[in-house]
Amino acid sequence: MPPPHVLAFRGQDRAERRPGTRASGWAHFVFTSLASLAAVTFALSRVERVRLLEALVVPATFLFANLVEYLVHRGPMHRRKKLLAILYERHTLRHHRYFTHEAMACDTAADFSIVLFPPVMLLVVLGGVALPVALLLFAVATPNTGWLFVATAMSYFLTYEWLHFAYHLPEGSRVTRSPLVRALRKRHTLHHDLGRMAHENFNITFPLCDWLFGTLGRPKIDDRGGRREARVARDDDARPSTRGDTHA
Ligand SMILES: [Zn+2]
Ligand SMILES: [Zn+2]
Repeated sequence: MPPPHVLAFRGQDRAERRPGTRASGWAHFVFTSLASLAAVTFALSRVERVRLLEALVVPATFLFANLVEYLVHRGPMHRRKKLLAILYERHTLRHHRYFTHEAMACDTAADFSIVLFPPVMLLVVLGGVALPVALLLFAVATPNTGWLFVATAMSYFLTYEWLHFAYHLPEGSRVTRSPLVRALRKRHTLHHDLGRMAHENFNITFPLCDWLFGTLGRPKIDDRGGRREARVARDDDARPSTRGDTHA
């Protein structure tokens, strides 16, 4: 059972939602999945006879996407920036108050919109990020590198959406039984502790940049061998921020 402050926030949020958006959770999920898969399939269909050097764009794009995921989440999603205030409002003020480490699961499909990016974000990712970089690669490298970049970037975006979606499904759902999803979900659950969210576990997918920048947060094994809730490797960083950038 979610704690009272989460129940109160969910009730208020649902009451303020536009009519018609309540039943569209699965449609939202299917649209995100199919549109991303269509973009990946189309990009891959344009690739032919890849040379080894061209194939390197795949791991390079993966690492770049991991860095972007980390920096955007650690930056404007958790620190209010004037031009990107919408990200802070959607993420820190809404997503993190709707789901806390004590109440991670959606109640109904209508809650999916608090987890998934809005469909327009898919167009922003496709048109605003993937397309310009792809055009640059077309111009300075080869068509194969451009299409491989699009395919990898969109696959990464969809992996982000699917994993984050899995973290917010009810415990025991089929997909959450996978050991990999379970391990990643634990990390994200720690991130949803309001006192830790502005300090650790900013990677939603694979925690490469958290490891690189020293922001990995883990449960600590206590003296009696049991798991103790929410202690961090770097304890001084785990205090809630006093600059008003943790939560409203
Ligand atoms: Zn989340
Ligand atoms: Zn967050």
